[in-house]
Amino acid sequence: MRGWVDAHAHWAQAFPARSDTAALEKQMVSLQHQGMSLTIQGGVDPEDWTRQLALYQMYPLWIRPVLGLHPWWVKEHTHEQCKEALAQLEKFFGDHSEVVVALGELGVDFSKNGRATEELQLFVFQQQLELASRFQKPLILHLVHGHEVALRLLLKHSERQPLRGLVHAFSGSFEVARQYVSLGLKLSIGPGISEPGRFLALKKALPQLSPADWVLESDGAGEQFFRVVQAVSGLTGRPPAEISEQTRLNLQEVGLLGA
Ligand SMILES: [Zn+2]
Repeated sequence: MRGWVDAHAHWAQAFPARSDTAALEKQMVSLQHQGMSLTIQGGVDPEDWTRQLALYQMYPLWIRPVLGLHPWWVKEHTHEQCKEALAQLEKFFGDHSEVVVALGELGVDFSKNGRATEELQLFVFQQQLELASRFQKPLILHLVHGHEVALRLLLKHSERQPLRGLVHAFSGSFEVARQYVSLGLKLSIGPGISEPGRFLALKKALPQLSPADWVLESDGAGEQFFRVVQAVSGLTGRPPAEISEQTRLNLQEVGLLGA
């Protein structure tokens, strides 16, 4: 298999209904013509998981399902609702373990009043870490304004079981990046890198990081992936073909391309 892999995409969110099929296929073919061969998803909630699995049935070579409870979803629900959804997640993993490549999105998001739900977010984060261990799946982490507490938790968890996976939409400094990498995780770089005035710490850190440390993502279902490619190629001085090859190896290394 050759071509670009989008390390973090949301096809189920971009095309949520059956009636979206024509638009989805048009978009997929357009991206395939630009050299993309595969998309790894990010999970949000039970509705999203169901749609991802349906899309996988239709496009098994294009969609890699990833199921998890997104911190944004957790923030808007009660402890009871989260516990119910976690039980559902466990059932989904039990029923579809062979086709689901990772658990995520999981983590914490303390932006926009997120500290108000800190306790609940940490509870669901921990429960999902346990579930990933039990089903031996890599992690797709969503971590915003919570690196300190997340690193502490991940470090503790890694003492029992080595970690694999990626930190999606990473935008931190070299020092923070090194800590995740040393835990066995890759940093996934999203569209913010191609925008002026954004991701400044990462723009500075990127040339110092090893090409084995990062992968690229759209965080959606579109052309923005190739703007990330151009930006990262410019910042690192590495040709796109080389980045394509290396990022694929990196995803393989953390278990996201399957066996
Ligand atoms: Zn996402």
